[in-house]
Amino acid sequence: MSNWSRFDDRNVMRAEEVEHRFGKKLGRCPFCKSANVGLYLGPAPHITCLACGADGPLRHRRSGDDIVACQFYAIEKWNQAA
Ligand SMILES: [Zn+2]
Repeated sequence: MSNWSRFDDRNVMRAEEVEHRFGKKLGRCPFCKSANVGLYLGPAPHITCLACGADGPLRHRRSGDDIVACQFYAIEKWNQAA
């Protein structure tokens, strides 16, 4: 967990809560196979690995997109790679 301080973990929803809120289980990190991943909740939502720092794909918001659509996109893209 030496890299922990690199991340703004206050803005990361833990995998258990993602599953609860979105009904989707996050896959393991495709790089380090850690299950310690979460959803970054900033303006450009993406899945981030808290073990190795890998960031998943993200979609920048377009007009008409709401933040939840971007969060779903991030989860689905991550799971396709995981
Ligand atoms: Zn990782």
